[in-house]
Amino acid sequence: MRLVLLGPPGVGKGTQASSIVKKYDIPHISTGDIFRENIKNGTALGITAKEYMDKGLLVPDELVVSIVKDRLSKDDCKEGFLLDGFPRTVEQAEALDSELSQMGIKLDKVVNIDADEDILIERVTGRRICKTCGATYHINNMPPKVEGICDIDQGTLYQRDDDKVETVKTRIQVYLKQTQPLIKYYTDKGLILDVDGTRPIDEVFKTIVDSLPTVH
Ligand SMILES: [Zn+2]
Repeated sequence: MRLVLLGPPGVGKGTQASSIVKKYDIPHISTGDIFRENIKNGTALGITAKEYMDKGLLVPDELVVSIVKDRLSKDDCKEGFLLDGFPRTVEQAEALDSELSQMGIKLDKVVNIDADEDILIERVTGRRICKTCGATYHINNMPPKVEGICDIDQGTLYQRDDDKVETVKTRIQVYLKQTQPLIKYYTDKGLILDVDGTRPIDEVFKTIVDSLPTVH
């Protein structure tokens, strides 16, 4: 199963990614994770990537594409993969297409999980995290027994800066602006699988699985 996963902040993409890779026994390839790991380990790639990121710039396409190309050539990708965070632009999608065609394979689907902006904002801004153990709560969907206090260790709950309303709005806008041409690109190729991310987690997963080709 060869998949690309798309979805805005707050849509539950991470949860679905975990379930999908488990179900199909394929690697979860997150370009963000690959960069973070290389930066942490101080590799040549990490140093180059960090120079761009420190300047607030996007890592150039050639660099991202070469990393993905390298990753897809590994043995564990033989039966498929789930790409997350790549491609982000039409240029990257074209590069991926040419790479895959050289390998004699193609994508099965591009899973596009979506939800209205209001819902995404409500989900993300309601998140609270325990300062002590990192457990996550949601003020409406998964509140702690006592407001502002962790059920597990009575730690104080806080809101990440990234989850504050203005930041969330910006993150969603950036995502939409960047991804719309990409969604059109894959729609034109007949690869898009639109999934309503407002529904319960297990229903979203079932919709995805039911819409993918059957694996024998
Ligand atoms: Zn805690």
